[in-house]
Amino acid sequence: MKSEELKKFDVLVLGRMREILSTKYNVAVPEGRQEILDAASSFDRPDLNELAFSLRRIEKGIYGQCVICRHDIPVDVLEANLTARLCPSCQTAMHEKSDTAR
Ligand SMILES: [Zn+2]
Repeated sequence: MKSEELKKFDVLVLGRMREILSTKYNVAVPEGRQEILDAASSFDRPDLNELAFSLRRIEKGIYGQCVICRHDIPVDVLEANLTARLCPSCQTAMHEKSDTAR
């Protein structure tokens, strides 16, 4: 993913964290990246941790990469789900696997 795209998602993920902190946990929304991260980590909730995980992947420049096949996840998929870790084909493969396991 290009660095300007990473920057865009960084802003989107931080925005989502602030939104969750304020609407779900009633936290006076902090200013600044580190403040938001500190506030989010102090809650230790799965939804916030997922977003923090995405932020770390943005920092490493591997955000938007499928964790299984390492192909790029389409940007529209990421926009719909900021914490997506799988590309559509791995997502489908996972679903098929869990369907047969049932
Ligand atoms: Zn994949």
